[in-house]
Amino acid sequence: MFVKQNFSYHNHTYRCGHAVGSEEDMIRSAIEEGYTYFGISDHAPFDGYSAPTDRMEIEDKEDYLNTCYKLKEKYKGVINLAVGFEAEYDSYRLEELKELRSACDYLLLGQHNKRVDRARYNEEYTHFVDDSDVIMYAKQLCEAMESGLFAAVNHPDYFMLGRKCWSDACTEAARLIAECAEKNDIPLEINLKGVRKGKQFYKDGEYYAYPYRKFWEEVAKYNVRVVLGHDAHHPLDYIREHEIDLVNEILEGLDLKQDLDFKI
Ligand SMILES: [Zn+2]
Ligand SMILES: [Zn+2]
Repeated sequence: MFVKQNFSYHNHTYRCGHAVGSEEDMIRSAIEEGYTYFGISDHAPFDGYSAPTDRMEIEDKEDYLNTCYKLKEKYKGVINLAVGFEAEYDSYRLEELKELRSACDYLLLGQHNKRVDRARYNEEYTHFVDDSDVIMYAKQLCEAMESGLFAAVNHPDYFMLGRKCWSDACTEAARLIAECAEKNDIPLEINLKGVRKGKQFYKDGEYYAYPYRKFWEEVAKYNVRVVLGHDAHHPLDYIREHEIDLVNEILEGLDLKQDLDFKI
């Protein structure tokens, strides 16, 4: 049974172009809802890769970091704040990711794109994910976990947004991801935005794309820490505790190990 945590580290701001709320709006709302540990992790910008409705622009990075660090001071003693980014992994961007990691308190892996390359802009996992793509996705997540740059993996079952149905390749991908998370002791996130989005149609029925039960059935076979993530894109996204009830319905009976002590 998943329960409400006293921490929340996966949160966005208006800067990514598809969320509302300033850094301070998100923090104030989280304080009202009783969170003790809180992190802002807006979609990371990449050099030469402008995607104004997906991520902040590179020119906004400094102002974002300054704003977050000022708020960290301002709210000292009220809430423990951490400053981060949610970023994709691309081996071609490794040096840039290292710099990003050193400029903040933490990075979360959110692999939305097949490549983080301007020339291939729009090649997203939501568009179309065949069996070879899903294995590539798993390998990217594993390489990212091995890099040591990421504190947790957001929505590891995200690929189901671009699938027609589950397949043996999906099972293999889930195993690869869970095995690597166990080996590197990195928590996998059950993303609450998945149930906020609603169900989508698959060949065999209507399901939430994530959390996707078959994915977590594989994870349950490994000794992997699991955390809940709000993936908040609005200051009101913290009030929806019924999302946790829905997650518990979807994953009922699975032996998943929620880490209630996860801290950045
Ligand atoms: Zn987002
Ligand atoms: Zn996110």
